[in-house]
Amino acid sequence: LREKIVTLLGRIELGFDFVEEDVQLFDRNEVVALVTEVRAQLSSLLDSFETGKLYREGLKVALVGRPNVGKSSLLNAILSEDRAIIHEEPGTTRDVIEGERRIGGIVTRFYDTAGIREAAHPVEKEGVRRSESVFEKADIVCLLLDSSSPLTPEDSLLLQKMDERKSDVVCNKSDLPPKWEPGSEIKSRFRTVKVSAKFRDGIDSLLQALLDVSTGSKLVKDHNYVLNNVRHKGQVEKVVTGLAALLKDLESSSISDECLAEELRIITNHLDEVTGKITSEDLLSEIFSKFCIGK
Ligand code: GDP
Repeated sequence: LREKIVTLLGRIELGFDFVEEDVQLFDRNEVVALVTEVRAQLSSLLDSFETGKLYREGLKVALVGRPNVGKSSLLNAILSEDRAIIHEEPGTTRDVIEGERRIGGIVTRFYDTAGIREAAHPVEKEGVRRSESVFEKADIVCLLLDSSSPLTPEDSLLLQKMDERKSDVVCNKSDLPPKWEPGSEIKSRFRTVKVSAKFRDGIDSLLQALLDVSTGSKLVKDHNYVLNNVRHKGQVEKVVTGLAALLKDLESSSISDECLAEELRIITNHLDEVTGKITSEDLLSEIFSKFCIGK
């Protein structure tokens, strides 16, 4: 993209040397088309940033829910191994247990928490404290509910705590006859998924839902390139803003060739921060390589 701009800039600058000759070295429609194209491509590159960040930093998912809803079982089902201790007595998981797996190339860390609730037992209290810190740090919170038993006040409290922008509601024990199903109020706020941790059923849909929530359904799969650097993102944003302003000026024909060249130079400089340095020599060699200028 930088090369395309530099080529055009070369022709505009060359025109300045031949103002007397009345030769047209570029036309404005061509500039508009190029600016539009470059802006569209860079905007789509900006969209890839969230994906880039995910690939670089990974994803943290906290599994929360009242005791016995099946958090440990779900963690094991996700990790396809028996890492977490599963017990029928409520409150067995007293520490945060974690495990990692990749979802579509993204390293995802799962945290099985002891449940966000008031705990009487001192060990469990410590577990609850750690759960809360995981809850704060997680990119996504996965709230588990047990669909084989009616919703409890504790479930409702957790539902209230959830932030719909970064939470999924998972209805576990779908293999058992349902005693409760999420109503439209919950479905309109959260992505809901049915699973049976025990029979490892619905796990793929859950993983997909996690990805959708983490990327706002914008996981860009068909990008050849992803932006994964905050500084680069800042530069590209400047370029996109600059190009949008330039397009306006071009459309209202309120910009001179000199200012147009200057704007393109500024835009190129921002791109240089991403790709490498431009020197005025670049411009000169561009001019001399593309045009035959008599001595
Ligand atoms: P946690 O306290 O939330 O970590 O819950 P656990 O994973 O320890 O599970 C509590 C109980 O529910 C255990 O007896 C599990 O076998 C059972 N359980 C978990 N998931 C399922 C499921 O999908 N279906 C059925 N039928 N039982 C489940």
